[in-house]
Amino acid sequence: MRVLICGGGVIGTSIAYFLSQRGIEAVVIERTGIANAASGKSGGFLALDWCDGSPVEPLARRSFALHAELAEKIDDEWGYRRLDTLGVVSSARRDVRSFRRLDGPGWLAQDAAVHGQLGSSETTAQIDPAAFTGAMMHAALRAGTRLLMGTVNGLMFGEGGAVRGAVVDGQEVAGDAVVIAMGPWSVLASRWLPLPAVYGLKGHSLVFRYTPEPVPHALFVELETEKGTLASPEVFPRPDGTTYVCGLSSEAPLPVDPAAVAPDEGGTARLRAMTTQFSPALGGAEVLTEQACYRPVVEDGLPLIGAVPGIDGAYAATAHSVWGMLNAPATGEAVAELIADGASSTVDLAPFSPARLTPLAAGAVRTEV
Ligand SMILES: Cc1cc2nc3c(=O)[nH]c(=O)nc-3n(C[C@H](O)[C@H](O)[C@H](O)COP(=O)(O)OP(=O)(O)OC[C@H]3O[C@@H](n4cnc5c(N)ncnc54)[C@H](O)[C@@H]3O)c2cc1C
Repeated sequence: MRVLICGGGVIGTSIAYFLSQRGIEAVVIERTGIANAASGKSGGFLALDWCDGSPVEPLARRSFALHAELAEKIDDEWGYRRLDTLGVVSSARRDVRSFRRLDGPGWLAQDAAVHGQLGSSETTAQIDPAAFTGAMMHAALRAGTRLLMGTVNGLMFGEGGAVRGAVVDGQEVAGDAVVIAMGPWSVLASRWLPLPAVYGLKGHSLVFRYTPEPVPHALFVELETEKGTLASPEVFPRPDGTTYVCGLSSEAPLPVDPAAVAPDEGGTARLRAMTTQFSPALGGAEVLTEQACYRPVVEDGLPLIGAVPGIDGAYAATAHSVWGMLNAPATGEAVAELIADGASSTVDLAPFSPARLTPLAAGAVRTEV
C-alpha cells in the first residue's frame, strides 16, 4: 500500500512517521518546505489537561504522553522540556498589582502581576516546532518514507470513485490512499473532495535573542494597552537562547501560496510594543525573526480527522487550531491505524469525522493552486 500525504506540516510529517513505523510506504508531498507554515512558526507549547472537558481531551492526553515518548525514542533534538506556566496580567492604563498572587520572574515589568500558576512541569511542556516537525520527517525518511517537493493540484479517481493518486505539478502520482493535511490550505481540497470549509486564522510572532534567568517559565499574558485594547500574548523561552512571543491575531485573508505569508504592516512592531509593556528587558532584546502564520480551523472548532465520506482511500487530518503541535503525534498514530487497520484503536476519532460537517459546495473554491 502506498499513502500520499499532502502537506509537510507537523500533521503530515507525524502521519508519515507513524505509517513508517508500521512499514507502510508513504510519500509526503510539500509545496514550499517542511515546516514552512504554522508548524515552524508556532509557540510549540504543550499541555496535558487544557483540552479536558472537550471532545479533544483523549487526543490531547495521548499526544502529551507521546511527545515525552518520542523525545526519548528518536535520536534527534527539538528542545523538548517540561516547564512551569504562569498567568500574568499587565495594563498600561491602571494599576493591576492587586492581582498579584505569586512573585513573578525578575525579567517582568515591576507592575506586571503574576495572578496564578496555570501549569507545572507535570502538566506543561514545550518543543521547538520547526525542529520537531523536521525530526518527524527525518525519522520517517530513515524508515523509508519519501519526500516529494511539489504542489498538489488535483486528485485522480478510479472505478467506483475511489482515489488512485494525486496530481502534483501536473504529473500523476499513483497512490492507494491520499491524506489531506495541508493545514489552512486544505480548503483547496474542497474542489476535489466533499470536505467542509477550512479557514486560516492569522497570528504574528517574534523570536528574540533572550534567555530569561534563572528558571524558564511559559507565560500567558492578559494585557491592556494604552489605547484600551485587550491582547493575550504568549511567551515561550526556549533552550536555544531565544524567547518566542506570539499573540496578535488578524483577519487578513490566506494567500494561496504558503511562501507569500508575511506579517501585516506594523503587526510585529505592535507585538514588540506589547512585549515591552510587560517585560522591558525582553521587548528591548534583539529581534531575530518577525513572522506570521495561519492556524487551520473549521466551523465547530474541532479537528477534522478521518475518512472522507463516500470516497474510498481519501482521508483528512487538519483543523487542529491552536493545538496542532500538541495533538500531532496522537493524530499521526490514529490516522496510521485508521489507514492500516480500518479503525483507530488509541483514540476514538468519531468526534472529528469529516462527515459531521456540511461539505463546501463543489466549485466554491475557485482559487488556482
Ligand atoms: C501564532 C501561532 C501560535 C501557535 N502556537 C501553538 C502552540 O503553542 N501549541 C500548539 O499545539 N499549537 C500551536 N499553534 C497551532 C499549530 O501551529 C497548528 O495547528 C499546526 O502547525 C497546523 O499544522 P498543519 O500540519 O495542519 O498545517 P501547516 O503547518 O500549515 O502545514 C500545511 C503544509 O501544507 C503545505 N501545502 C499547502 N498547500 C499545498 C499544496 N497545494 N500542495 C502541497 N503542499 C501544500 C504548506 O506549504 C504547509 O507546509 C499555533 C499557531 C499559530 C498561528
